[in-house]
Amino acid sequence: MRDGPQILLLEDEPAIASTIAFAVQREGLALTHCPLVRDARRELSARRFDLAVLDVGLPDGSGLDLCRELRHGVETAHLPILVLSARSEELDRVLGLELGADDYVAKPFSPRELVARIRALLRRSGHHQAAQAAPPRPAAGPAADFAVDSAGQRISYRQQPLNLTRLEYGLLLTLLRGVERIHTRDMLLDAVWGQSADSTDRTVDTHIKTLRAKLRAAGAGDDCIATHRGMGYSLGRR
Ligand code: CA
Repeated sequence: MRDGPQILLLEDEPAIASTIAFAVQREGLALTHCPLVRDARRELSARRFDLAVLDVGLPDGSGLDLCRELRHGVETAHLPILVLSARSEELDRVLGLELGADDYVAKPFSPRELVARIRALLRRSGHHQAAQAAPPRPAAGPAADFAVDSAGQRISYRQQPLNLTRLEYGLLLTLLRGVERIHTRDMLLDAVWGQSADSTDRTVDTHIKTLRAKLRAAGAGDDCIATHRGMGYSLGRR
């Protein structure tokens, strides 16, 4: 797995977060997405990041407050910060920069522009490697994007922990164990639900649907889990 610059993204709107995640990860940058200020605060105190992208309006607070906190933190005083806001008002922009943000992008923005700004900030802060175009991702099977922590029953996609239910975890793990194989609904029911009486093919479909949505939010393509009409599902085979 590439060990590129680590970006923290604080953004509560799933559609915007997944657009950013996709654009950033395609460039070989690792992204950790936090939907709430408290999640971002926890991540930032637990590990080192190379850049933070902060939305302003979050359900549990303001990205601008977090920006100010980071500037006063010993470890984060020099962390490059890019503020993202739906409000293109001059006040927000001025406030963001006054509070110590390094750059400001107003929504709606193009992912390409955002990535260019991120690269420029990383370049300024000394990430020369990151500032160059990322080399193409080495050809590898679809499983290469996943990391399984079986002890903690967790799976990450491109270094982003997926917040899976027990059944979604079981499904994804089963698919990962037989990459490019077609798993019928019966096989998946056996492997994940076991003897549980009231599960049907529909149960599998429903959980595949929620699993796909979570993978999509983490930046995976819609075809990450392929549907084989009349047969079943596979990971990474069309
Ligand atoms: Ca928001």
